Amino acid sequence: HRGDELRHSIREVAATWLALGLDPDKAILYKQSDIPEIFELNWVLSCFTPKGFMNKAHAYKARIQLNNQKGDDQDAGINMGLYGYPCLMNADILLFDSDLVPVGKDQKQHVEFARDIAVRFNSNYKSDLFTIPEPVILDSTETIPGLDGRKMSKSYDNTISLREPIELISSKIKKMPTDPARIRLTDAGDPKKCPVWQLHEVYSKEPTKLWVTEGCTTAAIGCLECKRPVIDSIVAELEPIQKRAEEYEKDPDIVRSIILEGSEAAREEAKVTLNDVRVAMGLTNW
Ligand code: SF4
Repeated sequence: HRGDELRHSIREVAATWLALGLDPDKAILYKQSDIPEIFELNWVLSCFTPKGFMNKAHAYKARIQLNNQKGDDQDAGINMGLYGYPCLMNADILLFDSDLVPVGKDQKQHVEFARDIAVRFNSNYKSDLFTIPEPVILDSTETIPGLDGRKMSKSYDNTISLREPIELISSKIKKMPTDPARIRLTDAGDPKKCPVWQLHEVYSKEPTKLWVTEGCTTAAIGCLECKRPVIDSIVAELEPIQKRAEEYEKDPDIVRSIILEGSEAAREEAKVTLNDVRVAMGLTNW
């Protein structure tokens, strides 16, 4: 049943956030669909969003590319939810007066759209109602590629999920392509041409990185050997998170009450901003 799938997914995502250390006493963890104000603001913002912006959105473009590759109609499987998704994200960002938005490099575009739309709205109504948000991109995560070296994307099936079984994560890394110059064990390679190296850049300390650089360029180590420390580091990081998340999932009432409280708190803030929007636009007090 599709509804049950989503219900399960909501519990899983919430449990994973909590397992990662999100502290509900310091942060508000809410469920988007509990905040109807987001959807109303989405509509308002969509009236300030040029269609051309949506045409440029990465997710939409990637889907068109996939359709073209498959020889399908270029808009096959694309509904207005997907097409207008960046606008919904603008509402997520702007409704809560966000100053800073942590994103991956490939999501910077969303914050740029939000900034642009906020400026358009503000100048149209001669107000400073919306805070102009800034993207925050961590250097360490800026360049993590997908397992095949392409951009990381679920549609390319080249991702590692936080909740994937450990054995699957390990086998996915073992199957990662490496520098194509290393056909035989005796062929030297260049870490700069290998997606595994980019994982080392994130997960390994200096001595290990030196071991990789020397071992790869002199063919002193094999690729599987080289991947082992990455597998160990990722497993060491994810295993305790997965265990904690499973504990939360065993007690869905706790997760549910955290989300419920969070959604109530978020809604209070959302109502204030949306009311300001309605007043600025002349939709109330007429
Ligand atoms: Fe990549 Fe490591 Fe193999 Fe070099 S030794 S090609 S860095 S996996």
